[in-house]
Amino acid sequence: MSEDMTIPMRIQEVRAAIADARERRTHIPNDVPVELIAVTKNHPVAAMQEAIDAGITNIGENRVQEALDKAETLAREVKWHLIGHLQTNKVKHAVRQFDLIHSVDSLRLAREIDKAAEKFGKVQNILVQVNLAREESKFGIDREELDEMLARIDELHCVRLQGFMCIAPNYEDVEECRPLFRAMYELYQQVKECAPRTADIRYLSMGMSNDYAIAVEEGANLVRVGTAIFGARQYNALGV
Ligand SMILES: *Cc1c(COP(=O)(O)O)cnc(C)c1O
Repeated sequence: MSEDMTIPMRIQEVRAAIADARERRTHIPNDVPVELIAVTKNHPVAAMQEAIDAGITNIGENRVQEALDKAETLAREVKWHLIGHLQTNKVKHAVRQFDLIHSVDSLRLAREIDKAAEKFGKVQNILVQVNLAREESKFGIDREELDEMLARIDELHCVRLQGFMCIAPNYEDVEECRPLFRAMYELYQQVKECAPRTADIRYLSMGMSNDYAIAVEEGANLVRVGTAIFGARQYNALGV
């Protein structure tokens, strides 16, 4: 990625790569559009604004407070995605701010979201984060616990399950992500076919700057891209 490219140019490049990856799909249908989420964590509001001017409508953040602060100064209508781990003490604010919470990784958290959403008077759309690669260091529910969790989520009135999210391990060779993405797509299809009563399964959120092309080839329809659009994150740029 060249340093002198502007944010709109990079967005155009990512969109083109997503379209190419969709064309390369072999074993899955190509009728579902792929939505691009611009991950703006640790980037200033000015950069977000540039991305939105270039047509971005989905914004991803991984900290609740950062999103709240930015939303106050960003006078634009966007769809907010929470992609980072959510602590139960932040649930109330998360429900207020986010259209889709990707990182629901326990039944306890789903229940807290349900309670907060009921108080706030909304039905909160959620994805369940799955840890198929079984990485100790990553959040997400294990495959074995998933069916039980989905059955219990189905009993909640103020959350709506819309699909799944995963984060691939940091492999040296990005191709190693492919089997994981393929397994996620299979899981997504399975659950979609015998969907829990209250669910509306439509999203498979996978793929980041280094692996989104492979994720799209394997069936992702929500990709979360930060670095390839905004460049490297500067962790003290916002004083956080
Ligand atoms: C930061 C982050 C991204 C974006 O990562 P890049 O490599 O910068 O594209 C995507 N998903 C999650 C969960 C993240 O935390």
